[in-house]
Amino acid sequence: MKLFDVYPLYKVEPVKAYGSTVIDKNGTEYLDLYGGHAVISIGHSHPHYVKRLKEQVDKIGFYSNAVQNSLQNQLAQKLGELSGYNDYQLFLCNSGAEANENALKLASFYTEKSRIIAFNNAFHGRTSAAVAVTDNPRINAPLNKQQNVTFLPLNQIELVKAELAKEDVCALIIEPIQGVGGLDEGTTAFFQEVEQLCQEFKAVLILDEVQSGYGRTGKFFAHQYHGITPDIIAIAKGMGNGFPVGGIMIAPHIEPSYGLLGTTFGGNHLACAAALSVLEVIKTENLIDNARLTGDYFLSQIYGLSGLKKIKGRGLMLGLEFDFEVAELRRKLICDQHIFTGGAMNKKLLRILPPLTIGKKEIDQFIKALQSVLKSQKVGL
Ligand code: PLP
Repeated sequence: MKLFDVYPLYKVEPVKAYGSTVIDKNGTEYLDLYGGHAVISIGHSHPHYVKRLKEQVDKIGFYSNAVQNSLQNQLAQKLGELSGYNDYQLFLCNSGAEANENALKLASFYTEKSRIIAFNNAFHGRTSAAVAVTDNPRINAPLNKQQNVTFLPLNQIELVKAELAKEDVCALIIEPIQGVGGLDEGTTAFFQEVEQLCQEFKAVLILDEVQSGYGRTGKFFAHQYHGITPDIIAIAKGMGNGFPVGGIMIAPHIEPSYGLLGTTFGGNHLACAAALSVLEVIKTENLIDNARLTGDYFLSQIYGLSGLKKIKGRGLMLGLEFDFEVAELRRKLICDQHIFTGGAMNKKLLRILPPLTIGKKEIDQFIKALQSVLKSQKVGL
């Protein structure tokens, strides 16, 4: 059998990685400023993470959710402490799309309504319900058109109000900073008014922090820059540093009942060990502060680049918008400079999503490489 060929691949095969370094099968070292779509939070193969996982797999890797698993409680406790959401409730699953699916389903049960508000250029995942709230014609199959979703532009509060006032909306789902779409974000005034309107019209406010969460932007959650408290927060990616784990954090007023949500793999012992070790490292190594400070350093150093129009994002969730499409620039950065970066739905945007452990040295290396590619080439011309 061969693989279903749905991804264009760079000709690089990583076989080993540590920190922000990835090594391919020929022994070539790469600087990883992308972390496989913002997944690597504490650095590749962090010794504490490896130790925790090895110890856990030696004991028990998996048993079903029909029995007690104190690792889940430890994870909920630790996540509550670090995020500041001590009084929330945690439901564990396996990916970002699944987290959003569960959030939307819960909102619909809770409000007994079905329409959803989402935003232009949003990305919430590729499963049926998650793709329905994802505004990208390339990944929306005809099947998903049947879903009851209204897409609105960011920062146009009157349009949000007009839709919510119809009182048939169960949930408003929004990324604090759009990831795949290209790092656009709502203003603080917009987020605060959205929160108020959701309360007024009894719609559940879901913040999709799958990409922006876990310290990446310099706060535990990016929505914390806006002083809002969502009803549900979706998490995944950096949560497991590569181990597939996701979840939703649910406000206390949404009460659980048996059978409301369910999962086979969600919250298994190995996933919890991975997720716990990530939180432990984030705390002991002050990675949230490091993300903010290193992001500030990046912004202070990145100037005078030819073709650079705009710098977007916060902390270590950054985007460089050029006046040309960046596919060739990305290719040259990987093949010639041995640096991984990311693209976006906005084809002129280069995304930087490194492990939260990087420092000035890696930023200097990247900027030098970028300058050299932009100087030497015809990229963008
Ligand atoms: N939500 C956001 C904001 C994302 O960026 C992504 C993935 O890029 C998802 C959801 C989907 O996550 P997953 O690929 O783990 O299903």
